[in-house]
Amino acid sequence: MARYVGPVCRQCRREGMKLYLKGDKCYSDKCPVTRRAYAPGQHGQGQGRKKVSEYGIQLREKQKTRRTYGVLERQFHNYFVKADRQKGITGVNLLVLLERRIDNIVYRLGFAASRPQARQLVRHGHFTVNGRRLNIPSALLKPGDVIQVAEGSKSSPIIKELAEGLAHKTAPAWLELSAADMTGKVARYPSREEIDLPVQEHLIVELYSR
Ligand code: SF4
Repeated sequence: MARYVGPVCRQCRREGMKLYLKGDKCYSDKCPVTRRAYAPGQHGQGQGRKKVSEYGIQLREKQKTRRTYGVLERQFHNYFVKADRQKGITGVNLLVLLERRIDNIVYRLGFAASRPQARQLVRHGHFTVNGRRLNIPSALLKPGDVIQVAEGSKSSPIIKELAEGLAHKTAPAWLELSAADMTGKVARYPSREEIDLPVQEHLIVELYSR
């Protein structure tokens, strides 16, 4: 599956908010969103004065969400179609689908410092789900699924380093974390209040309903 390979921090500056794609750097004063709080590019510093259309506002909400989860355009649209077919509020369904991705769950459990890192760890086969190795970052988990660091990966330096940091992490209420054996379980799907993403998802629905 393709992925964005351009400058990572540029995406945050474009959206005017931290998307937390770089792990520790995002929490330090080296974060470019803090240092250069304007859009990237030659005309970036003039962007704040421009009047943004309704379409432009909807587009930005979609892009923020898509970039936060590291999903490309076509796949994001597929999530929307799926969310629209489900019962309930389409915008919330969309966010819940994105939260159910294994790379997001690895990140939420604290097994990775950022979603891009989680994606790479999953891709490299460091995790099992219900005892079977799963290396597809977009795989969706459901309540009852148990995710664990693969036996052969426990001695990997990167996993050891991440395991040390786990003691200070708390998983969201919809996930159960057992830091000692690097295991997590999906207890249930998250509610909207439990998804700490500052986006107005109804604007994404309006964008796709045009
Ligand atoms: Fe975004 Fe993190 Fe880069 Fe800051 S350091 S711009 S939050 S990816």
